Amino acid sequence: MNWEDNIRRVIPYIPGEQPKDRNVIKLNTNECPYPPAPGVRKKAEDFDYERLRLYPDTEAGELAEALCQYYHIGKEQLFIGVGSDDVLAMAFLAFFHSGKPVFFPDITYSFYDVWAELYRIPYEQKKLDEDFRIVKEDYMAENGGIIIPNPNAPTGILERTEMIEEIVAGNQGSIVIIDEAYVDFGGESCRKLIDKYENLLVVQTFSKSRAMAGLRIGFAMGGEKLIRYLKDVKFSFNSYTMNMLSVELGTEAVRDEEYFRGTVRKIIATRERVKKELADMGFTFPDSKGNFIFASHRDIPAKRIFEELKQQGVYVRYWEKPRIDNYLRITIGTDEEMDIFIRHLRSIMKKEPA
Ligand code: PMP
Repeated sequence: MNWEDNIRRVIPYIPGEQPKDRNVIKLNTNECPYPPAPGVRKKAEDFDYERLRLYPDTEAGELAEALCQYYHIGKEQLFIGVGSDDVLAMAFLAFFHSGKPVFFPDITYSFYDVWAELYRIPYEQKKLDEDFRIVKEDYMAENGGIIIPNPNAPTGILERTEMIEEIVAGNQGSIVIIDEAYVDFGGESCRKLIDKYENLLVVQTFSKSRAMAGLRIGFAMGGEKLIRYLKDVKFSFNSYTMNMLSVELGTEAVRDEEYFRGTVRKIIATRERVKKELADMGFTFPDSKGNFIFASHRDIPAKRIFEELKQQGVYVRYWEKPRIDNYLRITIGTDEEMDIFIRHLRSIMKKEPA
């Protein structure tokens, strides 16, 4: 017997590159190009480092209170984790336990199949249609759970809340997780449905619209019973997941609604302008409601554009995967960053013989 035969072998998720060079124009991991709310900075500066010798609050009390007030939900309806990746990993572990296949789209956040493989959960990837839309009927068969991002990633397409509700209502024998990582950039959250459906979990993050990817804060909203089951699993894994700084700085971010709205507004305005410029250059793309655009050019291969942009110090995301290997996912940066991106893009276009 070889010790290697007893290892849980997995193929890990590959995150987008985090280059050391800070001069890179980083449009590859859907981070926010603006800093977090000013109150966050003040709180960080005033933080008494001596407190770090203590364990943090296991319930992330202050942050939980701020979120409950902001979203008008009860404390028992909220779960907080180390980024939404942690929330989702715990949710897969807690809720997808039937042995039946879990459903999610074939083109979607590429961590879902990694978690399913890690936990040995069977899964079926449901094919998006030609326009990358979710086919509702595909989700109406017997399953061990469903996870759908809305807006979807990397397409940016937002499905109507009515359709999401039909999927939740039609699957009351299993848990439906809606991953709303990008919902603040123009979508309608389905969190209002958590009082109506016990089988719905809505997951959001501080990493995009709240500009705090570095602190790792994510959360889920759901019925009391569902959240209790999720916490039971989480507290069987690690009680002290949320560190003091994340709890306190995250709270400040939630308190400054005006700053949050302003940041989101700026990103949306830039996104809409960049859509027009990309269309002028011959790109096509779904109508994204996220902080990114998933674009393909009619003449020039995406891989080539990706590589040439990288040489110029502009990073976007590219996947060599079936159906999407001629697309680039471009995160929306500041207006200045997007101007530089477009300038480089135009010079790549010019090089191409007609
Ligand atoms: N869901 C989706 C759809 C995402 O794109 C991301 C970002 N990679 C996440 C969840 C996880 O984000 P975080 O862990 O930073 O909250």
